[in-house]
Amino acid sequence: MKLQCLVDVVNRQHTALNIRSSGKYLKSTLALGKEPKCATDYFIIHFSTVNKSGLKYKVESIKQVFVKCLNEGKATIRFEDPTHDLCIKCEVIQLKCFMRLLKSCITGDTKGLQLTNLSNISVTGKDVAPTKLVVRDRSEFPAKGLPRTLESLYLSDLKLCNFRRDILLLRQLVVLDLSNNEIEKIPPEFGRMPSLSELYLANNQIGIKGEVDWKWLLGPQITKTLKLLDLSGNKLGYLPKAIWKLQKLVTLKLDNNVLKKLPATLGRLNTLRYLTISRNELETLPCSLLQCRLESLDLSTNSFHHQEQIPTTIKHSPWDFYVNSLVHVSSKVVLKNKLYYAPNIIPWTLVEFLDNANMCICGAPVVNDILSIRKSFELKDYFRMVVFDNNRDSTVSFECYLCSQKCYSKIIKGV
Ligand SMILES: [Zn+2]
Repeated sequence: MKLQCLVDVVNRQHTALNIRSSGKYLKSTLALGKEPKCATDYFIIHFSTVNKSGLKYKVESIKQVFVKCLNEGKATIRFEDPTHDLCIKCEVIQLKCFMRLLKSCITGDTKGLQLTNLSNISVTGKDVAPTKLVVRDRSEFPAKGLPRTLESLYLSDLKLCNFRRDILLLRQLVVLDLSNNEIEKIPPEFGRMPSLSELYLANNQIGIKGEVDWKWLLGPQITKTLKLLDLSGNKLGYLPKAIWKLQKLVTLKLDNNVLKKLPATLGRLNTLRYLTISRNELETLPCSLLQCRLESLDLSTNSFHHQEQIPTTIKHSPWDFYVNSLVHVSSKVVLKNKLYYAPNIIPWTLVEFLDNANMCICGAPVVNDILSIRKSFELKDYFRMVVFDNNRDSTVSFECYLCSQKCYSKIIKGV
């Protein structure tokens, strides 16, 4: 059996002499096999990028095997001769499999065990744990399935209609490119990908049937790691309010969809810097967007039109703002302090209520939409780089919600 992993070889004699190991884990292959002449002698050979011919260790010279952190994908094999410790880091299931086999070799319980003769084992370039895979044609899919060690996977232009569920097993995946396919939906389990940082879904069929299942946005893991989301060239008619859950998102691409509106929750993405929404059907923007510290914003080719709404004097008593139900008061606290909430923590009705909340031009949460007004803002006053249609100033009307009489008066004076 061959195990593709990362190995740090610690020489205990060096440690005793206070010579430190480099502490570097090298891409390696560990092969477990038997001696061709003597079927009961087992060996482990360690091949690495610096030792391509491999170093042979006898299984019978194993002094101890440390498996306390096996569930984290770590184990150490200590040999008596040479005095080496092989510190292994690897995908959990494969490592467990290897350790089980090694245990059988140590205990001699080798009935039914099929191990290769050591002389047959050779390491080819391909055996070094692959971290990147580019599939250009469907026939190129690895016969044994996608290697669990992958960190980047490129599956574009393959006419894939469904999301391949074996992707969900790639716990180390950081970059996933599924652009130019015919994918309509992303499974909810995708939200549990623990390391994904960049997701390219451009030019697919997401939203073609109207309703889109966005449950993957509720996955606790992906919300902590995803930095880039490319959904351009799909059929999105709306963006989910739960988009705010992606708390590390820096780049969001939504070009070439059929968006008419953006959710106010977009303003809660503190990390967002690059937003592109060209070639959509936007008429207005939520004023919460002015709270985002965007470096670049592309709004070209939309359906914006200048429409100043003359504010009508609304007679509201201050009580409408200051005396609210307990739900309103507590919701404002949750939103103001940016507390995390999800359907598994609070009832779904409250999640909806909080996701529906707007944001005042001052940044405060607005849970009662008593005061709203449509007002135009010059985008260039707010964002460093704005891409807009040629020959037009970038004045766009915003849906503004006001948190208090004070903010209301302020905005009216500005009109
Ligand atoms: Zn306000």
